[in-house]
Amino acid sequence: MTPIAPPRGTKDLLPDEAPAWEWLHRAHAAVAARFGYQLIDTPIFESTELFARGVGSGTDIVDKEMYTFTDRGGRSVTLRPEGTAPVVRAVLGAHLDQRWRPVRVHYAMPMFRYDRPQAGRLRQHAQVGVEVIGERDPGCDAEVIEVAWRFIADLGIDGVSLQLNTLGDKDDRLGYRQSLLAYYTPLRDSLCEDCRRRLDVNPLRLLDCKKDAHHVENAPLLGDHLSAPSREHFAAVTGHLGDAEIPFTHNQRLVRGLDYYAHTAFEFWHTSLAGAQNALGGGGRYDGLAEQLGFAPTPGVGHALGVERLLTVAVDQGIAPRAGPPAQVVICTVGEESAATARTLARQLRDRTSVVSDVSDRRLDRKLRDAGRSDATLALLVGMDEGLVLRNLRTRQQQVTTSDRVLDAVSAELLAAAQDPRT
Ligand code: AMP
Repeated sequence: MTPIAPPRGTKDLLPDEAPAWEWLHRAHAAVAARFGYQLIDTPIFESTELFARGVGSGTDIVDKEMYTFTDRGGRSVTLRPEGTAPVVRAVLGAHLDQRWRPVRVHYAMPMFRYDRPQAGRLRQHAQVGVEVIGERDPGCDAEVIEVAWRFIADLGIDGVSLQLNTLGDKDDRLGYRQSLLAYYTPLRDSLCEDCRRRLDVNPLRLLDCKKDAHHVENAPLLGDHLSAPSREHFAAVTGHLGDAEIPFTHNQRLVRGLDYYAHTAFEFWHTSLAGAQNALGGGGRYDGLAEQLGFAPTPGVGHALGVERLLTVAVDQGIAPRAGPPAQVVICTVGEESAATARTLARQLRDRTSVVSDVSDRRLDRKLRDAGRSDATLALLVGMDEGLVLRNLRTRQQQVTTSDRVLDAVSAELLAAAQDPRT
């Protein structure tokens, strides 16, 4: 029988990569907490309607990428492709906005998109994100950007650029839609298949196209259709970013083609990530979303960053923490009768450090070889004629000790090893 392979486009988190993964999640949660965001989590699957309404048709996610199936009760359910719609549903469904306003939440959740797997594009990936729900002040737009910026700075990732744009409000976009249609309709026959569909369903998405980039270059700009209040909102956001000393590029081609998006849209790009997959994350304001989901109109703004892409960059830049040994101390027994003593010692030593015991009947040299390969610092040999032997696996020095002194001896050796630049 052939061994079972992982599903296409998925990735296991193996112990070697786990410290970097934890480091990244802790850093995001810590920055979010400093800004007053609380943890939220939502189900991995939702009713399909949530995303059909909350992400919207005309988007690649809904039209092509959802993992949708009918459950045994005949309901259509979908594996979560993005976090904002579920979080807004959860927050407003629980009336959190009546307890305090705005509601600030952060999350770390897996997302599922049936996409063509390639570098930086998986069928299951994870995102860390924040949402501020219940406030339309431009200060919140700048705040969610600042949280992401500080998170990236805390990780120590270099070379990130913030791309910022405004999408105006619904009326601004209606006017813009007309001028996009006037520009694109005569070009219809030269457009790619996706763009012909976008022209009918969601013209703003035309600007996302990588294949028809030459058309995008000459397309009219949304910035020429903004009302005075929309300009003011954008000016306030850029003013706050200036105060926070966060540099940005005003990228007028950055769009989110959905009716309920409003004003601020942004992405964090990294040059080392290839081509179309160069976005580490993004976000924006979605003032029309709550209504679209059947709740009272409630403004919101948030960011979401891709965990796997951040980790790729962090590993490339050599800043991601590497895995340490499974345990600092390996207890190796000699002779069957030593097993009970080994277990007692392990229990005592675990008050101070991490310990595993090798009580197998293998030869001691094999046990020591494996302990060394595991990168443990110390081996404690139990059952030797001379008594308890504590061996430093890096320097190969060893000392004989007793059960009364072994805890202190282990602590002293670990401290010395931690301070020794050679180990
Ligand atoms: P989006 O909701 O599409 O803006 O996604 C937010 C971030 O999640 C992106 O900027 C990527 O870093 C990451 N991301 C989105 N889709 C994928 C995917 N298929 N595979 C890996 N990462 C992804």
